[in-house]
Amino acid sequence: MSSPTASAVDDLPLTGESLALDLVNTTFIQGGARGALVDALREPADLDHWLRTRSADFGEPLRPLLDDGAPATRFHLDRYRELRAALRDLAAATVSGTTPPPGTVAAVNAAARLSTGWLELDPDRPGVRIPRWTEPDLHLVALGEVAAAAVALFTGPSAGQVRACPAPDCILYFVKSHARREWCTSACGNRVRVARHSRRHREPGAGEPPAEPATGRRTEPAA
Ligand SMILES: [Zn+2]
Repeated sequence: MSSPTASAVDDLPLTGESLALDLVNTTFIQGGARGALVDALREPADLDHWLRTRSADFGEPLRPLLDDGAPATRFHLDRYRELRAALRDLAAATVSGTTPPPGTVAAVNAAARLSTGWLELDPDRPGVRIPRWTEPDLHLVALGEVAAAAVALFTGPSAGQVRACPAPDCILYFVKSHARREWCTSACGNRVRVARHSRRHREPGAGEPPAEPATGRRTEPAA
């Protein structure tokens, strides 16, 4: 296994959601309101690094193979990015209660089939089992497990708890894991609170009375 190079995978603001949302969250905004869009999966090595850091979330038979298997190629990276786009559309449709764009469900389902696998008896070593998959390419098997995680998430008890982070400069998705969770991360919550605070101090009300707007509409008063 090659040593990981510097990668935005190490700077992901949010991990530990479902594998499906974790793949979606490999694109993020870095730097707040005027921040830049970061894609942590830019090179095949980034994909392998991401898979290794998340290997504990894949099926047990697949884990050692993700750690030691052949390196990812550009083909694999493109397939993961395609699934990521489909999962982002699926998450967006879920939180807005709308129908996903055409092709999204078919793309997720096609990927999910890649995870089909079973265990066999090792004919030469009694008591030893061997994992087998219909898809021989292990990067695609892992892709299938990400898609299968999406099927489980978006049809399971947590489907109604999937949230798009409401911070204006955030594109991350998460599962509202407890009643008070409002943001993807505390960093987003803090940033929004600071912005609200500074806006209040700039708003009229504390200082001179505002001129009455011609339209009759007023700025929302600070609570
Ligand atoms: Zn956020």
